[in-house]
Amino acid sequence: MMKTHTCGELREKDAGTSVQLAGWVNRRRDQGGLIFIDLRDRWGITQAVVDLEAAPEAHAIADSVRNEYVLRIHGTVRIRPEGTANPDLATGDIDIVADQIEILNRSHTPPFYINKDEGALDEALRMRHRYLDLRRETMQQNILLRHRVVKFIRDFLDAEDFIEIETPILFKTTPEGARDFLVPSRLQPGMFYALPQSPQQLKQLLMVGGFERYFQIARCFRDEDLRGDRQPEFTQLDLEMSFVQREDVMRLMEQLATEIVRQVTPQKRLIAQPFPRIRYRDALEQYGTDRPDIRFDLRAVDISEIAGRSAFPVFAANVQAGKKVKCMRVPGLAGTLSGTQLRKVARDLETMARRAGAKGLAYITIPTDPAGELKGPIGKFFSVELKLELLAAMGAQGGDLLLFMSDEAQIVYAVTDALRNHFKAELDLDDDLLAFCWIYDFPEFIWDAEHQRWDPSQHMFTMPLPEDLHLLDSDPGRARGSQYDLVCNGYEVGGGSIRIHDRAIQEKIFPLIGQSMQQAIAEFGHMLEAFEYGAPPHGGMAWGIDRLVMLLAGAPNIREVIAFPKTQGGTDIMAHAPSTAEPEQLRDLHIQLDMPAE
Ligand code: ASP
Repeated sequence: MMKTHTCGELREKDAGTSVQLAGWVNRRRDQGGLIFIDLRDRWGITQAVVDLEAAPEAHAIADSVRNEYVLRIHGTVRIRPEGTANPDLATGDIDIVADQIEILNRSHTPPFYINKDEGALDEALRMRHRYLDLRRETMQQNILLRHRVVKFIRDFLDAEDFIEIETPILFKTTPEGARDFLVPSRLQPGMFYALPQSPQQLKQLLMVGGFERYFQIARCFRDEDLRGDRQPEFTQLDLEMSFVQREDVMRLMEQLATEIVRQVTPQKRLIAQPFPRIRYRDALEQYGTDRPDIRFDLRAVDISEIAGRSAFPVFAANVQAGKKVKCMRVPGLAGTLSGTQLRKVARDLETMARRAGAKGLAYITIPTDPAGELKGPIGKFFSVELKLELLAAMGAQGGDLLLFMSDEAQIVYAVTDALRNHFKAELDLDDDLLAFCWIYDFPEFIWDAEHQRWDPSQHMFTMPLPEDLHLLDSDPGRARGSQYDLVCNGYEVGGGSIRIHDRAIQEKIFPLIGQSMQQAIAEFGHMLEAFEYGAPPHGGMAWGIDRLVMLLAGAPNIREVIAFPKTQGGTDIMAHAPSTAEPEQLRDLHIQLDMPAE
């Protein structure tokens, strides 16, 4: 080995030991006769001192090195002289008196600082030189954390008798609602493999194959427009179990989540245990989304009954027409603002609501003086009695701001979500708090008005709840699926369900989602057939590893926890992927390009 110790390892007790370290020059300080080199490796930083008189050759080399040169330094550990210890460094009580230095490689001046976090670095520059970016401490920590999380998952599941099994990357469509990436087959001209959007079918077939408990750290591929925090390829913890019910999977998965946090990131705090369980419908009604951040408690409350009796014509008419009136209480906001400030805030919130599709956003403020009048444009429409009912329903206190929404349900959800996100940003929530919750009782299908068909709300293999099975024939829109999603701080960390294992039930799904039986057999015939050979009842889940690690790392997006991510445009700007193919390659594949006009 080129090193006897790491750069994070030596302490006072090692004084007098002769050592050899190897790593990168983090920083070099020249004080004439003495040159100080902070040598960095994965484990830390150790300072070496080179004395012109004691080691003239080493000093001459030290004189020529620059940041990010790769060195091997030989020397003796000593306790640093009185007053020169560095309490910020784990090795700060000692340094190495160098007697030999060898330059193992040189480095250009890096395009950005590696030895200090300079605030916002240009991401394109970071991606272009990702190998340098990865040397930065934050990235090293993130990638290390990712390793620890995955290792913990493997050990946990191994102890629970799960087997890790690899499934093919070159396969056939495994739809999860995105486009497939296709790979042309050379040996079978005109044929294509599809990269799996998830190992969904394969893991179900492994259950038919009798393994009972499977998992995989699986790469998944989805050709989507890269909106927000997505990557064309990403990593799932994929898992499946036989002879289980929804409760069994949820319980084990909750235990796994809890243990990861406890053991791998003990500095994080879980807000609630057991994890709260929220029905899909309640999540939408209260939070406006099926992945609520429940670290803060702003919710929309249905006050249709009260508002319908107010003198405000819009509310009365909407309630008559069967629409709801919802109210969100923002504690104390009005009490801290002047009249002008309040009107400005209300205008901004209204703009936000309009952007989410609403026609407006009414508000009233609760006076700090209990005898005072409700203020705000619609305060006057509430009689004294109605006002008391409203305050009681909302638990409102003096100084609160009440916001009112009334529209089509989808618009009210969107406004609720937008308002919550706005106030969330203002609240400056603690990233060390992890608020996991389960969302369950999803509808089995969601109506797709554009294509006039039902879309699976999870995927086509989700078993409807047993008590709703009969609805597949009569009223599919009302059938609930066995799906459960694990949500944390507003992100969907994972989702799963109990699966259909019965051919007759599976066959009922296809026509509902707009697939002819012929099409279904061509694409999923192997599944239907497998169900006829003793498929056990089974269910499972998949977690987004990138998102989970992002949350545990407190990173702002998943690119910070992936070694070589793609940009928003789906490209790797370091290696230039995707790139054009050689004409010969295309010829071998019998592919002719038909490019759109510029
Ligand atoms: N295959 C599903 C997904 O990728 C997860 C599951 O149902 O296990 O979302």
